[in-house]
Amino acid sequence: MNVPLLDLGPQVKSLRSEILEAVTDVIDSTRYILGPKVVSFEEEVAAYCQSDFGVGVSSGTDALVMTLMSLDIGPGDMVITTPYTFFATMGAVLRVGAKPVFVDIEEKSFNMDPEELERALGQQRRNGGRVKAIIPVHLFGQCADMSRIMPLADEYDVCVVEDAAQAIGACCPMTDADGTIQWQKAGSMGLAGCFSFFPSKNLGGIGDGGMVTTSDADFVDILRSCRNHGAKPKYYHARVGGNFRIDPVQAAVLTIKLRHLEDWHSKRHENSQTYRTLFKDAGLLDSPVVVPEERFATVSGAENHHHHIYNQFVIRVPDRDALKTYLQQHSIGSEVYYPLCLHQQKCVREYNGQNFPVAEKAAQESLALPVYPELTREQLSFVVETIAKFYTSG
Ligand SMILES: *Cc1c(COP(=O)(O)O)cnc(C)c1O
Repeated sequence: MNVPLLDLGPQVKSLRSEILEAVTDVIDSTRYILGPKVVSFEEEVAAYCQSDFGVGVSSGTDALVMTLMSLDIGPGDMVITTPYTFFATMGAVLRVGAKPVFVDIEEKSFNMDPEELERALGQQRRNGGRVKAIIPVHLFGQCADMSRIMPLADEYDVCVVEDAAQAIGACCPMTDADGTIQWQKAGSMGLAGCFSFFPSKNLGGIGDGGMVTTSDADFVDILRSCRNHGAKPKYYHARVGGNFRIDPVQAAVLTIKLRHLEDWHSKRHENSQTYRTLFKDAGLLDSPVVVPEERFATVSGAENHHHHIYNQFVIRVPDRDALKTYLQQHSIGSEVYYPLCLHQQKCVREYNGQNFPVAEKAAQESLALPVYPELTREQLSFVVETIAKFYTSG
């Protein structure tokens, strides 16, 4: 049996004629830059993400870069984020000339630890550090603990840019002042949310694409002008932006896929539950295989919301690299997200000597298993059986 980490084939197959028609429409329309397909897609994504506005961009990376540029973040400024995320989160901060400040993650969720955030904010305030933004990353499809991060950001008067590239549609429980819980979508809690439509994300295009969401009517104007070289009006540049535009072809394809997104989330979640049961039945649960905890599963109302959209299903195991090789030998795809923390990357040598033990441990132990919607029960069983064989045959 063959179980790839991700197979986009079934999705394309089922939507092929619809997609071809939509792409043909774009071609025949001769509207190749922005235009009505992009506008309607932006409106649909914004509505889906509980935000007032969406600004379609060229990639998730550009969503981050453009948002930081629009906030006038640059040299001398600091941006707090996590060392355990895809490179683009840090890359965006470095590219605008600002300095990333890292805070460690929670062991159980892989996401930014609010206590560490509070410590870092306090330390920077004492040192006179100019912290301009916090970028929590909703890693693997589950939101960071925004209910604790947002009040800290308010207290320290720092704006929040959510890296929601892996978490479109994920819901986060936010507690009101009177104690009631509001489930809010990823990207709707901070000033802006940054999304990616890279093909392997839950909502993936047929190429690169991204979106910035916001509910701030002034900020959306800045974002839109930044997307087009900072022009406002055309050929008049009060600021420097770039070409960060999404293609209407991507908008057309993604509009079709968006209609299926909730269903795909449900199937990924079902697969994760099946894994849990199978690992338990095989006697592997907790030792040696630690299955990710769902951070918000016990919050009231959790059963009615996609609180984890499982862009990745990531387990923690001993002998991770050997297991990965073994799975490969048995035609099972897996991947390490991420083998090296950001503070350990060569391009930021000045962070050498800093330690983020929880993130570093995660980088040693974590392994993503196939979880895409169309996987069969047999394929999931085969993955768990093969892992069981690896650990029993020594
Ligand atoms: C995918 C991803 C990005 C970048 O998105 P691209 O569309 O690939 O540029 C940024 N941050 C995180 C956490 C991601 O997973």
